[in-house]
Amino acid sequence: MAFWNEEIETMPREELERLQLRLLRAKVREMYDKSAFFHEKMRSVNMLPDDVTDFDAFRRIPFMKKTDLRDNYPDKLFTVPYDEITRVHVSSGTTGRPTVVGYTQNDLNNWTESLARGMTSFGMTKKDMLQNFHGYGLFTGGLGVHYGAERIGATVLPISTGNTERQIQLMQDLPVTAWAGTPSYMFHIADTCDRLGVDIRRDTKVKLAIAGGEPWSDSMRNKLQDRTGVRIHNCYGASEMSGPMFLECAEQSGLHVWADLAYMEILDENGDPCAEGEKGEMVVTMLQKEAFPLIRYKMNDISSLTWEKCDCGRTHPRLGRISGRTDDMLVVRGVNVFPSQIESVIGEMAFLSPFYHITLENDNYMDAMTVEVELNEEYLTEDMNALANMSKQLASRLKSILNIKAEVKLVLPGTLKRFEGKAKHVTDNRSYE
Ligand code: ZN
Repeated sequence: MAFWNEEIETMPREELERLQLRLLRAKVREMYDKSAFFHEKMRSVNMLPDDVTDFDAFRRIPFMKKTDLRDNYPDKLFTVPYDEITRVHVSSGTTGRPTVVGYTQNDLNNWTESLARGMTSFGMTKKDMLQNFHGYGLFTGGLGVHYGAERIGATVLPISTGNTERQIQLMQDLPVTAWAGTPSYMFHIADTCDRLGVDIRRDTKVKLAIAGGEPWSDSMRNKLQDRTGVRIHNCYGASEMSGPMFLECAEQSGLHVWADLAYMEILDENGDPCAEGEKGEMVVTMLQKEAFPLIRYKMNDISSLTWEKCDCGRTHPRLGRISGRTDDMLVVRGVNVFPSQIESVIGEMAFLSPFYHITLENDNYMDAMTVEVELNEEYLTEDMNALANMSKQLASRLKSILNIKAEVKLVLPGTLKRFEGKAKHVTDNRSYE
């Protein structure tokens, strides 16, 4: 199968690691000079840029965390002025403060390059037409995938999410061969096709897909592939890194992490490197990012990494499936949701008590979120209209903060379970089998 950038993609490991160290040292030097935040991090451990002589020395630099992004909202971590910034994306962060990511033209180019390599690696070419289900706008999935596919010369149908029957009509009328979107939306497409009597194998030309943005398992993938006849490739990324970045090749055995763009560490609970293939916490350094650099950033995801050469011929390391989170972030319908965001909305409303509970279900792999909140004693009423209005107010505020719909249930004071110590606010009943 073809390569997008064969020289880089097949570079021997030793050469790649030499390149990584060189880029890493240059980035540390640059950040030390340009970023007050990073300068202070280095000083806190008495390090100078020249001390970073190898990867072990690099590991002495303190982590960068999600709370650092919150504390430096909106753009204090940018290291270039706005006249060098070409685009800004915004995603949900903790406690109501979103994460704002800036991109220089080079940042956009590198992001697009990483997707162009990934798409080529599972067999997409300029002959393909990609139907992009990802939302266009502040979410990075839509535009990221869009430009990646255009870069390899494919045709893009930028249809975005929703209006499923129209999606299915267009994928029959046009020579669509590939999809990009969340796994749950692809299940929804498959269900809707069944209902409409459309057979994806017979009535469309769709053969390939990229799926990401939410947790799922290999058994879900097998089911979806069996149902649709479409070969589906995983995708990993986060807005802090640029957006979706790393894709699975045609071997479907892990996501290729482009080592010239990212240095990925997998660490155990003591912060020491895990053995290859062993699960640990992901910490990423972006080697060429300009506007919003990441150095030793804790992704809060758990996975493993192997440098074992892939059967596709690519030498870059591969990331295993994401097997969990180290924080309380939930991914619901592809959207990042922090319980703290819900808590702050509840806090805004005088008629609600602070007692709440979030329940997640996924009937047919389609996520549904229910938020139960106890009414404040003083606002108890039998007036159904008043109750309906309170529910509506909460539901619409949650929708505007979270960007997804939550079912809201107001309950009587004292009915939700009380906890000694740390409250358990979330019951996640979703199954990925
Ligand atoms: Zn491969």
